[in-house]
Amino acid sequence: MPIPLAEVRGLVDAYPRTPVVGTVGSHSAIDIADGAATEGLPNLVLAQAGRDATYAQYFRTTRDHVGGRRRGCVDDVWTFPRFADIAAPPVQERLRGHGVLLVPNRALSSYLPLATIEEELRVPIVGSRALLRIEERTERENYYTLLERAEIPLPHAIASPEAIDRLAIVKLPHAVRRLERGFFTVASAREYRQKSEQLLARGTIAAEDLAKARIEEYVIGPVFNFNFFFSPLVPRSQGLELLGVDERRESNLDGLVRLPAAQQLELSESARIPEYTVVGHGTLTVRESILEEVFRLGEQFVDAARARYPPGILGPFCLQTCLDKDGRPTVFDVAARIGGGTNIHLGLGHPYGNALWRMPMSTGRRIALEIRHAVDSGRLKEILT
Ligand code: AMP
Repeated sequence: MPIPLAEVRGLVDAYPRTPVVGTVGSHSAIDIADGAATEGLPNLVLAQAGRDATYAQYFRTTRDHVGGRRRGCVDDVWTFPRFADIAAPPVQERLRGHGVLLVPNRALSSYLPLATIEEELRVPIVGSRALLRIEERTERENYYTLLERAEIPLPHAIASPEAIDRLAIVKLPHAVRRLERGFFTVASAREYRQKSEQLLARGTIAAEDLAKARIEEYVIGPVFNFNFFFSPLVPRSQGLELLGVDERRESNLDGLVRLPAAQQLELSESARIPEYTVVGHGTLTVRESILEEVFRLGEQFVDAARARYPPGILGPFCLQTCLDKDGRPTVFDVAARIGGGTNIHLGLGHPYGNALWRMPMSTGRRIALEIRHAVDSGRLKEILT
């Protein structure tokens, strides 16, 4: 049973006036801590031993003798043997005792079981707890079903390997690095058999994942990840903001496309198969005439999410798109939380976020600003689930 909304919102009745912005130490934690620091909110990173130096050492806040921030943005770090320990009841109690609001990122939903987040994690989440599950492609209801409800263009689904009649992408997890992708592209049933056999033999993919894989049309066009923010604290017409756009660097796909064709052909056959492990991000803006369509998709997504998973999107979300030859976006993935590429603008702000807010507005800062607005207007519960 999911934790009732009223119960989780009621937890903040015992919180101090200034809450602590907490997040799991990976993915986008620096952006979240930096944003909190800029807005004058204390922050906490929940780290795993052996992966904590970024936060506990390199970005750690140091203060001068009167308590002013001298450098760094991570105010406090709690380190656990495993990320999953965050959900242990004594840790939850400690988090509540410190007045922590958790900002969900992909590290939270990857390292804690979703059922634990939904049913056991009695710490308020700034964002949409129930929407974290839609990212799981193997769920009966997922982001694809929500995009369909929202009437947002998505890649055409291909029912079975035998039905592959165009360039397609097969989506399944990596066999060993479970949080990474074992995606591959194929253009026919024959190529599907050949490539899947190669990847199975190489240990990149596993047969049980392949049986459940989604096969969809490969959309040819550049990737634009649109980082939006939705605020329930303002009139609906002002609720949706586009903060910025990022793109990914994926190994070894990006390495392969940097090779001239002649050198690509000199690679062994298996080395020519790209992998899609995200290793970094770049920043983009979009041709201005495309923006109207991008906002339309954002609005449709917000409305559909609110109708299907009330209270819907609260805060940041990301629509990952390919733009086709006519500049039309097709959404191939969704993050109903802070996206993975927002660090590109920490400290500097996102181009569109800056244009809107008239000051450097990163996603992390926008989240902290929302918390401050909510606290100042006595409406904190409205942004929590
Ligand atoms: P995802 O795991 O959904 O974020 O996708 C990882 C990468 O796969 C993306 O950054 C794209 O490069 C690529 N991709 C995923 N779906 C499609 C698609 N339908 N068409 C083209 N590229 C895709």
